[in-house]
Amino acid sequence: MPLTGAATADRRRVDGLIEEVVRVVGARHVLVGEDLVPFLTDQTGMLRGRAVACVRPGRTGEVADVVRLATRHSVPIVPQGGNTGLCGGATPDGGGRALVLSLQRLNRIRSIDRENDSIVVEAGCRQETVHEAVRAAGRLFPLSLPSRGTCTIGGNLATNAGGVQVLRYGTARQLTLGIEVVTADGEIWDGLRDLRKDNTGYDLRDLYIGSEGTLGIITAASLRLFPLPRQEETAFAALPSIEAALAFLGLARARLGELLTSFELIAATSLALVARHLPEMPLPYGAASFTAPWHVLVQASGDANVAERLEATLAEGLQAGHLIDAVVARSLAQARELWTVREGGLGEAMRRAGGAIGHDVSITVSRIPKFLSDAEARLREQWPDVLIAVHGHLGDGNLHYNVLLPPQQRTADAAQRVHRMVYDSVAELAGSFSAEHGIGQIKTDELRRYKSSVELGLMRAIKMALDPKGLMNPGKVLI
Ligand SMILES: Cc1cc2nc3c(=O)[nH]c(=O)nc-3n(C[C@H](O)[C@H](O)[C@H](O)COP(=O)(O)OP(=O)(O)OC[C@H]3O[C@@H](n4cnc5c(N)ncnc54)[C@H](O)[C@@H]3O)c2cc1C
Repeated sequence: MPLTGAATADRRRVDGLIEEVVRVVGARHVLVGEDLVPFLTDQTGMLRGRAVACVRPGRTGEVADVVRLATRHSVPIVPQGGNTGLCGGATPDGGGRALVLSLQRLNRIRSIDRENDSIVVEAGCRQETVHEAVRAAGRLFPLSLPSRGTCTIGGNLATNAGGVQVLRYGTARQLTLGIEVVTADGEIWDGLRDLRKDNTGYDLRDLYIGSEGTLGIITAASLRLFPLPRQEETAFAALPSIEAALAFLGLARARLGELLTSFELIAATSLALVARHLPEMPLPYGAASFTAPWHVLVQASGDANVAERLEATLAEGLQAGHLIDAVVARSLAQARELWTVREGGLGEAMRRAGGAIGHDVSITVSRIPKFLSDAEARLREQWPDVLIAVHGHLGDGNLHYNVLLPPQQRTADAAQRVHRMVYDSVAELAGSFSAEHGIGQIKTDELRRYKSSVELGLMRAIKMALDPKGLMNPGKVLI
């Protein structure tokens, strides 16, 4: 088909941009054709976009040059880290006009300061690389996601990632001291402060954290470190009810204090899916305990008496009737097995069961029992045979609420209705429809529906101020 005048001009503009970008980063780092394909699909494989190219700068200055060029040519930019995000934030839309900007080559550790307990890393550093580097220095970087081998620090900050140790150490936001950013007009803001206190006006750092690439590009970060605990203990326990799980959480907090690092909830339905679809995966205890409706994976860490204090807490929980059964990992290998059920088994088992309609919600911890009964009542009224497989970070009030409909009822329309029922139940209890995964391109409707007009207006004003041309990750978060 012959190109129209406008299309020809567009083509020339894009070709001009690519030529100039090649001059900045080198031809090897501008990917098109087949090489571009992996950068166009999200990690679930459900979303597929188009783009003019993927550019992979290796220095902050190159990122700034590329952003300035894209701005001059009015070409949108989609920042991408490890592409493990679960809301399609790093996937371009279908328009084919965007430039994917991969941070993966910007992956140096710039410095570690042991006295200040901080590290400066570039945005494309994989989370696991940071864990390994600080461990060698006797320190802990506690942000820890199951995707740690692939996700990047830039992506973690851009999504304000959570993970399994938020209870003790906080989310990515709380673990960040400063950031370096390439703004939407291609300037470099060196906000790489490593101060614990800095009240000097608006907190720009916190604006960029959690903005999912819609305000600018994070190129480096200064992160908080902690002493590496000498002891780490893991236990798995069966509980008679969700109320008992909350009571045991309270007990564990009181008895373990700062030692309590993770408190992960798993429904019996979820464990049953693992047993059915991953029979090779070792499960923590005998069949009798699997009749319990809820289970928790608890981790405690510190320097002394951790095992004794965890075991005493479990004993008290058993005595009080909060727990039905409990096992403590006797070796690192056993602890890993327990974590594998949580971090790998649950997701894979749901995938093999045909896929679930997932939700990542947060509710005030004390309201979780009410949320669970409200949402289930709504769903069962419509689909009596629905299977609800919940797991999540109970200590943070963050549930991954997964709904499996009978195969013949799994339609796009049904999925929308399930979302509405779950999110309405969350909203009625003043919870959040996205606890840790963000908005990306898949939750933009929910953002409009559940945020107040005042909040949306303020968000739009910020977007307009920092990205007036709307070229930073368009179609994501605010549309
Ligand atoms: C198996 C699995 C388990 C997971 N578990 C958790 C979990 O427990 N907790 C949790 O919070 N998340 C979890 N996630 C989601 C995901 O790993 C996180 O959102 C992670 O922080 C994304 O990092 P990434 O580098 O892959 O970012 P990407 O997926 O590449 O990008 C995510 C978003 O950030 C933007 N972005 C990326 N890099 C930058 C940058 N340098 N500057 C500006 N914007 C940028 C992108 O445009 C996109 O909007 C999980 C994912 C998987 C696959």
